[in-house]
Amino acid sequence: MPVPRALDRLEQGGQLAERTYEAIKSAILVNRLPPGTPLSVPELARQLGVSRSPVREAVQRLIYDGLATHAPNRGAEVSLVDIDDLRQLYLVREQLEGLAAGLATEHLDADALACLRGILAEHEEALGAGEDIVAHIELDRRFHRTIRELAGNPHLTAVLEPMAGRSHFALHSLWRSPDAPRLALDEHRQIVEAMVAGDPELAAEAARRHIARLRVRLSQAKPGSPDPARPRRRPRPAS
Ligand SMILES: [Zn+2]
Repeated sequence: MPVPRALDRLEQGGQLAERTYEAIKSAILVNRLPPGTPLSVPELARQLGVSRSPVREAVQRLIYDGLATHAPNRGAEVSLVDIDDLRQLYLVREQLEGLAAGLATEHLDADALACLRGILAEHEEALGAGEDIVAHIELDRRFHRTIRELAGNPHLTAVLEPMAGRSHFALHSLWRSPDAPRLALDEHRQIVEAMVAGDPELAAEAARRHIARLRVRLSQAKPGSPDPARPRRRPRPAS
């Protein structure tokens, strides 16, 4: 039957576009494609073994997310980090993560709690094993994504998801204190404890405090400082 086959092809195309988008986004978020890297459609298509069309679509979505920018005469490139802009972003994210944690508390069940505790345990293990900032940021992403999904409000997800993506991506490029991952994990625990206590307002407050503290840590950030754990592949532009 022609119609289902056509739908099937559409579905496969959709999945390919989604997978391509996720692959490039994840490479940006873990800094395999650092700020300023050109996003060449033919080159990415070759590396990912896909046609140019899903890559083109992915790059447009990344521009929409704020992870990529369109540079005149150069095409798209991975966004550079603007600390003042990021501080503004964190101000809004602070309130929205509070809202997410409050809503998530109302939906917390045994499975969700096991999932959150699993992430905390994995995070503890990663920090104990001295894993690098990439592992920390990935676990931080998973923690906040789980809370967002648990909150179960699609409007909140639509606003918060790109915001959280941009916040995480920026962390790679900024000065960071060696204590920051440990502090973040302690703050995540406080959020989960408040959720377990069944107190949405307390959970919201713990989440807002966590993001506010990140914002303060960020205010000590120096754009362009090299990450001591990772040799830079290209010089940082002056800012
Ligand atoms: Zn966090």
